[in-house]
Amino acid sequence: MTDTTAGFDKHNSMILIVDDTQQNIQVLGSILMKENYQISVARNGLEALSAVEEVKPDILLLDIMMPELDGFETCKRLKESPDTKDIPIIFLTAKIETDDIIKGFELGAVDYITKPFNAKELLVRVNTHLDLKHSHESLRLKEQQLREAIAAKDRFFSIVHHDLKDPFNILIGFSQLLLLNYDKYEEEKIKEIVQHIFDSTKQASNLLENLVQWARSQTGQIQWSPCKIDIRNIVKENIEILNDTALKKNVRLHSEIKKPSFVYADENMINIIVRNLISNGLKYTPDGGEVRISARDSDEFVELIISDTGIGMGKDDIEKLFRIDVHYTTRGTSEETGTGLGLILCKKFIEKNGGKIRVESTLGKGSRFMCTLPKQEGD
Ligand code: ADP
Repeated sequence: MTDTTAGFDKHNSMILIVDDTQQNIQVLGSILMKENYQISVARNGLEALSAVEEVKPDILLLDIMMPELDGFETCKRLKESPDTKDIPIIFLTAKIETDDIIKGFELGAVDYITKPFNAKELLVRVNTHLDLKHSHESLRLKEQQLREAIAAKDRFFSIVHHDLKDPFNILIGFSQLLLLNYDKYEEEKIKEIVQHIFDSTKQASNLLENLVQWARSQTGQIQWSPCKIDIRNIVKENIEILNDTALKKNVRLHSEIKKPSFVYADENMINIIVRNLISNGLKYTPDGGEVRISARDSDEFVELIISDTGIGMGKDDIEKLFRIDVHYTTRGTSEETGTGLGLILCKKFIEKNGGKIRVESTLGKGSRFMCTLPKQEGD
């Protein structure tokens, strides 16, 4: 009978037996294998240290008296490393002195069983510690999810509070100016003010679009409807939408995708990704620069590449890009404002579609954002 709680099958767990006596290994191995545990064996402490890295055991049954490196020292080293400190260790030993038992627990073992042992008791103890390990892992995961949810909520409020205010203040200011002075202003001046109003409305609308999409994705309300889509078309449509901005900034915007390139993904999400990445390229590229979009195929993926010859980013800043708990945003080369939400949304949507996003950038030279998406063969 398998014992499964919320997808966790403890009888599939990997148990590392560390013992230098062949007979002990055989006895233990057959007891555990009867219960369908996966077994790995190390014959001394040093072997155990490398086996732990290799097989990533769920629990260790550790003898104490062994050549090379004894069980106490092995336990100490495992507990010192962040990668292995959480693996439960049960000492299984002929050392029955109270001082040894105390030492074992002080070194961080979860249990101490003396030889000769009772097979049923050993199994019950192993099971209990596997359950506990699983509960700890679930708690840690939930804690991490909770921390992310709190960071997301904080970010949401901060955007509503700060970033939405800017464009609306500009809108109110300029429209009021126009209302009060409409009769006095020359046509040129009116045009200039209307342009400001238009730019601000566009900025607020882009921001709201990202905010709504992101809020939906956070609450699981966003639909994921993948189908066969042609990346070349999506890029073309977005270039048409953003061409005005490119012309105004005197940035050359062009696609090098010459033939249809099909991916299996959600069209709405891919549109948002492409628009955000091209917008960023334009935003952070000065007069006379270039934003270029290309694509390359591998066996399973299409990689979409958005490169610009803009201001680029330093290594420290690149590390802040996709993090919800870090509010990182800088003004564009024409003082465009932002929220630092676009790339977080891009990463979320790319991953939802089974792809990955990465970035290469050099300060003063430009940036390259690369996204992979599952390829779909054309008809
Ligand atoms: P926003 O552009 O609204 O601030 P993003 O998440 O799209 O939000 O980008 C976060 C930050 O990353 C930007 O503010 C900018 O500092 C940096 N960044 C993004 N794309 C580029 C780029 N192509 N070139 C230089 N910096 C960029």
